[in-house]
Amino acid sequence: MPPLKTVLILGGSGLVGSHLRSLFESKGCAESVLTPSSQDLDLTKQQQVEDYFQEYRPQQVYFLAGRVGGILANRDHPADFAYDNLAMALHVVKNSHQVNVDRLFYMGSSCIYPKLAEQPMKEEALLTGPLEETNRSYALAKIAGIELLRSFNQQFGTKYLGLMPTNLFGPGDRYDPFRSHVIPAILLKMDRAKRRGEEKLTLWGSGKVKREFLYAQDLAEALLFLGLLPDEKYLPLTKMPLPLLNVGSGEEVTIRDLAETIREIVGFKGEIAWDENQPDGTPRKLIDSSKIESLGWAPRWKLAEGLKVTYQDFLEEGIF
Ligand code: NAP
Repeated sequence: MPPLKTVLILGGSGLVGSHLRSLFESKGCAESVLTPSSQDLDLTKQQQVEDYFQEYRPQQVYFLAGRVGGILANRDHPADFAYDNLAMALHVVKNSHQVNVDRLFYMGSSCIYPKLAEQPMKEEALLTGPLEETNRSYALAKIAGIELLRSFNQQFGTKYLGLMPTNLFGPGDRYDPFRSHVIPAILLKMDRAKRRGEEKLTLWGSGKVKREFLYAQDLAEALLFLGLLPDEKYLPLTKMPLPLLNVGSGEEVTIRDLAETIREIVGFKGEIAWDENQPDGTPRKLIDSSKIESLGWAPRWKLAEGLKVTYQDFLEEGIF
């Protein structure tokens, strides 16, 4: 008999959602796993969300859907990032409460922390300073989502928890030279440069900023770990002043080192140049994941190993 009844994964087609979906399927942890696409259920539409939740009444909700993108997408579409993420959070949290969802997991992002927060960033750094300008709309929408969890937990005794993953990557990512996050963007550009026999590849920014990356499967495992955590360990998390847990790998690299690792995996022989006119974003972004690690979760994937599997998937999917 699986430990969980009906589980709803929102964003099940996405980078994290697809890994979580496979994990639930392979481990058989739930009687039923619902994974509606945005075509089946548009979370920005209140009535659709209400009808769906009333019909399926899930026991647990993994809210992984969101309007997600890199620096340029955030810069060019701030209204879409703010509106869609706010609307989704409002509808999902409210309707989870209406149908007595037991555990709701929501995704924040490490960009919600102040631009110059002390490193590594602890959960308590939230709202202690100005945000990075390039993704301010997205970050504020995500912060509002966390505040919804906190308010509902306080007023209604719900058991909702926000997770703060660091930058994610893995098979199933979105590849677009202009819109993607840094790993899929570099991987795609590097692969193209190699295929075209180019002698020089120019990447955006100075390459000097530092980032932490987490393999998407590790985050999926953290989610399932929390979904199955016994009440006596789980409930105190939702009663913290901020119901938030950082989830990172602890492995920090400069973008230059990241590009070199990708170069080795892809086999690009040319020169890598840096366009310092393009925005860099926050200088350093390392989160402190000691809280979730003290509960017994730990990341399993090293960056280079995850990148190899990701590139293999990129080739098999014929994305180039
Ligand atoms: P992703 O690959 O971009 O997938 C986004 C998902 O959201 C897709 O499944 C998409 O569904 C769904 N979605 C978008 N708009 C929707 C709508 N209006 N209604 C219903 N579903 C909608 O996202 P991800 O990278 O897995 O990220 C998962 C979560 O983690 C997000 O909340 C994100 O903010 C957060 N996060 C991501 C990163 C990262 O580096 N990727 C880092 C930190 C936090 P369809 O495909 O059906 O349209």
